[in-house]
Amino acid sequence: MIMTESSSMIYKSTRGKARELGFKDVIFEGLASDGGLYVPSSWPVLGSKLIESFSDMSYQEIAYNVFKPYLDDTISEDTLKEIIHYSYKNFTSNEITPLRKINNNEYLLELFHGPTYAFKDIAMQFISRIMDYYLTRDNSHINILGATSGDTGSAAIYGFENIKSSNVFILHPYNLISPTQRKFMTTINSENIINIAVKGNFDDCQNIIKEIFSDEEYKKSNNLGAINSINWARIMCQITYYFYSASRIKDNENIIYSVPTGNFGDILAGYISKKMGLKFKKLNIATNENNILDRTLRSGDHSIKGVVSTTSPSIDIQISSNFERLVYDSCKDSKYIQEIMHSLKKEGVFNLSEKSRSYINNYFSSDTATEDEVKDIILQYYVDHDITLDPHTAVGVSCGKKQSTANDILVTLSTAHPAKFKDTVSKIISNDSFITDKVKNLDTMEENMMIANNNIEEIKDIINKKVS
Ligand SMILES: *Cc1c(COP(=O)(O)O)cnc(C)c1O
Repeated sequence: MIMTESSSMIYKSTRGKARELGFKDVIFEGLASDGGLYVPSSWPVLGSKLIESFSDMSYQEIAYNVFKPYLDDTISEDTLKEIIHYSYKNFTSNEITPLRKINNNEYLLELFHGPTYAFKDIAMQFISRIMDYYLTRDNSHINILGATSGDTGSAAIYGFENIKSSNVFILHPYNLISPTQRKFMTTINSENIINIAVKGNFDDCQNIIKEIFSDEEYKKSNNLGAINSINWARIMCQITYYFYSASRIKDNENIIYSVPTGNFGDILAGYISKKMGLKFKKLNIATNENNILDRTLRSGDHSIKGVVSTTSPSIDIQISSNFERLVYDSCKDSKYIQEIMHSLKKEGVFNLSEKSRSYINNYFSSDTATEDEVKDIILQYYVDHDITLDPHTAVGVSCGKKQSTANDILVTLSTAHPAKFKDTVSKIISNDSFITDKVKNLDTMEENMMIANNNIEEIKDIINKKVS
């Protein structure tokens, strides 16, 4: 059975120095004050009877059972059910994350049926509502500040559209994201949403946010909040679809989940589902040519190289923030985490201990997909199965095929709709019939955004004008 009704989860930092928090504070705090990430003090284990009963439950009912042990009495069961219900109302599939069967040994888990066509909607639709619930109850207001290289920004904007308790400021690199990614963000006409195109790259945007957040006084006096990929609630939401998909597949013990990975949030949720009692074979870390994690699993070498631009931009990442949570779980040693994170920051490298590496290799495999392999897989699936994959999903499929055998059941997480990357995909398959009306309509809508220099004071000015 799941944990007792009145259980209340305590969260602590991977680096061991920040104070322990409950659920509500964890979602508003984001990063811990010692630089670490918050993790639950233990993994709640769901009983096998409950997990078996998921096969008769809806996605929303499974989500409720998964979330409940992580929350506490700051929210009632009925309110939680209601928030889950509204969070998944704007999805175009009743199943929320439908499985697409290719054959008895291969499936795609489609995570792109939310309003902005990428899996980030699954968490962001819920976070915006649960934050709004707490803020409205406490008669409070928040100014959310985020940087995006594409998909997180649009998911946040659609999540917080017309939500009165929050303003949302999203920074994106001017002219460096795909036009479709930009238009998902800039065509929303809502008073509380402010798009800022910064004349710089994604790292510049991220640095401006980090600098603003490091100013404790400014942060406090302006009620700033973050919704970046290390937010615990985002991970929690993503656990649901592992339970959901396994409940819909016979012989789920043979499943290998292949997950295109950047910040390690989506695949970490799969690891947690296993810790919570879900039975499956393995998780496969699928990376593009930015393959720091593949290298780490193979040799322990976690060294940051320059980011190369690929056709799967949402995983063009070298600093894989959530990996810290896994390494912590492999050793439960905060001192060790402080050490390796210090080395990563100072020297751009750490070498994962043999103990942690062998623990991680029990749960995970890994592989890298080259740009040519991505193209080949997209073309092959189009020709053989009449399925149009987005480039991130293609990374997942390509690496999954290399890391599975004929006896396994390969389930690749399909993290984005191909229309979001229409220029890349239509060129490869010489066809554009997969582009939806919604994406076509974006091209005709008016865009709202401000353009700013790569200058922290200019960004602060924009915030101050809106907040005052
Ligand atoms: C964010 C994103 C990913 C990577 O997810 P992580 O949790 O950062 O590993 C993969 N594919 C798409 C389309 C994304 O938007």
